[in-house]
Amino acid sequence: MANQNDQFKKVVSHAKEYGYIFQSSEIYDGLSAVYDYAQNGVELKNNIREYWWKAMVQMHENIVGIDAAIFMHPTTWKASGHVDAFNDPLIDNKDSKKRYRADVLIEEYCAKIESKIDKEIKKAQKRFGDSFDKEQFLATNPRVLGYEEKINSTLSRMARSLENEDLVDVKALIEELEIADPLTGSKNWTDVKQFNLMFGTKLGASAESAMDLYLRPETAQGIFVNFLNVQKSGRLKIPFGIAQTGKAFRNEIVARQFIFRMREFEQMEMQFFIKPGTQQEWYERWKEIRLKWHLSLGMGEENYRFHDHEKLAHYADAAADIEFKFPFGFKELEGIHSRTDFDLRQHEEYSNKKLQYFDPEENKNYIPYVVETSIGLDRMFLAVFSNALQEEELENNTTRTVLRLPPVLAPTKAAILPLIKRDGLPEIARKIVDDLKWDFNVIYDEKDAVGRRYRRQDAAGTPFCITVDHDTLEDNMVTVRHRDTMEQKRVKIEELRELIKHEVDMRTWLKKM
Ligand code: ATP
Repeated sequence: MANQNDQFKKVVSHAKEYGYIFQSSEIYDGLSAVYDYAQNGVELKNNIREYWWKAMVQMHENIVGIDAAIFMHPTTWKASGHVDAFNDPLIDNKDSKKRYRADVLIEEYCAKIESKIDKEIKKAQKRFGDSFDKEQFLATNPRVLGYEEKINSTLSRMARSLENEDLVDVKALIEELEIADPLTGSKNWTDVKQFNLMFGTKLGASAESAMDLYLRPETAQGIFVNFLNVQKSGRLKIPFGIAQTGKAFRNEIVARQFIFRMREFEQMEMQFFIKPGTQQEWYERWKEIRLKWHLSLGMGEENYRFHDHEKLAHYADAAADIEFKFPFGFKELEGIHSRTDFDLRQHEEYSNKKLQYFDPEENKNYIPYVVETSIGLDRMFLAVFSNALQEEELENNTTRTVLRLPPVLAPTKAAILPLIKRDGLPEIARKIVDDLKWDFNVIYDEKDAVGRRYRRQDAAGTPFCITVDHDTLEDNMVTVRHRDTMEQKRVKIEELRELIKHEVDMRTWLKKM
C-alpha cells in the first residue's frame, strides 16, 4: 500500500514539475478536484483525443462526429432521468466528518477480499511450483471459495438495495461488514442519503425570466437529441454511430484521486444506433474493438480487464467497464453500455417529436437501440501518464527517470540539441527545427551539458533527441538517441523526417488494432 501511495505521489509531482498538470487556481490554494493542463499536458491530451477520434470517426465509414453545446434545454435532463436518478449514495463519518460514497466503501471492502484471494494464489503457486493448476485451485480451495462467496453476496445485496432505493439496508450492510473510515478507523456512521451530482446554473439576466439549467453531466444526451438531424442530413443508414468529445460536469462527493475523479472533466463518447434485437451482438463487438484500441498503445495486456456491472444504470440492459491498473489498483477507465431505446423513447415522450428511423429494408419505422462506448479523456491521460513514469537503474549505478509515453502520444516528438553553443552548431540545429516543425512538435534546447539535456527529455517523455556536433559540419549527419533504449546512431539530416514519422505516425500504431 505504501508503495502504491509513493508511486502515485510521484505521478502527481512529476506531472507538475514537467508542465503536465497544475492544480486549478493554485495561487488561491486551488479548487478541489479541478485541474489545469499545462504546456505539455495539453499536447498529450490533444494527442489522446486525436488518437481516439481517428480510430472511432475517421476509420469508420458509418460513424460521424458532432460537437454539441454544454448547455441544453432543462427538459433534456428530466427525460434522461438525471434529475431523478443521477444520485450517489453518500454517508458521513460522525467522528472524522469525512464524506464517502457508500457504494465505494463497500466495493473497496470487496477489493480487499479480492487481494486476499490473490495472496492465496501466490502462496499456492510457490508451494506447488510447476504443477500448479490455477483454474482447479480457484474452483476447489475452500478458503478461496469462501472469499468469493462473500464478495458475491455482498455485491449483489448492495446492488439489490440500491436498485430498490433501500438506503437503510445499505447502511446496515456497512455496519454488518464493520467497515471503518479508511482515514481514522471510526465506525460511527450517519444514515445513507442520496445526493444529485448535477451542477445547476441560470440562463438569462433578470431573476423572473431566468431559466434553471444544468451543466451537462455527460455528453451523450447532446447526441440523442440530435440523432434525427444527423441521420437525415447525413443520410445515414442503421447501423451508424455519432461520436463526440467534450466537457462534462459532476459534483462528485469524493474526489481525491487527482485527475481520476474530477468535477469538470472531458468525455469521449460514441453512441451506436442499431436495429432492436441486435444489441447483444454489437455490445460484444464494441467491447472487443475498444479493448483493441487500448492494447494498440502497448501499455501491457495485463493492465486491463473487463468488469461486468452487477448494478445496471436505469437505462441499460448490459454494461461492462474496461478497467485499468492505476497506481491505486484496477479501476474503471471506460464504460461500454447497451442502453436499449431508453433515451430516444424518453426524448420522444418529453418533446412530443418522433425520433424514429425508417428502415428501408424492413419497410417500417422504429426507435433504434443504442450501444455506447464512453471513456474519460482525463482518466485515459492518467492511465497513460502513470503507466509511463518509470525509474530505471542504469549500469553505472545511477537511476534515471523516464516517461515512456507511447511515441504517438508524446507531446514533443524530438528535441534538437547543438552539442555546444558555438561553431555554427546552433544554426544547423535551428535549421533542423525549422524543417521538422511543419510535421511534428519539436523543440530546440541548448542549455546545460548534453547528458543533462538527455535526462530532461527522458523525464519529459520526448522519444528522440537529435544532437548536432562538429562532425555534422563535415558529413551532414546527426546523432539520434532513443529515449527508451538510450541507443544512439548516426543519421543523415534529410532522413530525420521519415525516421521520426515511422515511429510516431498514427498509421503505424492504429494498424496494430
Ligand atoms: P464512476 O463509477 O468512476 O463514477 P461512472 O460509471 O459514473 O464512473 P460513466 O458515467 O460511465 O462513469 O462515464 C464514462 C466515463 O467517464 C468513465 O468511464 C470515466 O472514464 C469518465 N468519468 C466519469 N466520471 C468522471 C470524473 N468525475 N472525472 C473524470 N472522469 C470521469
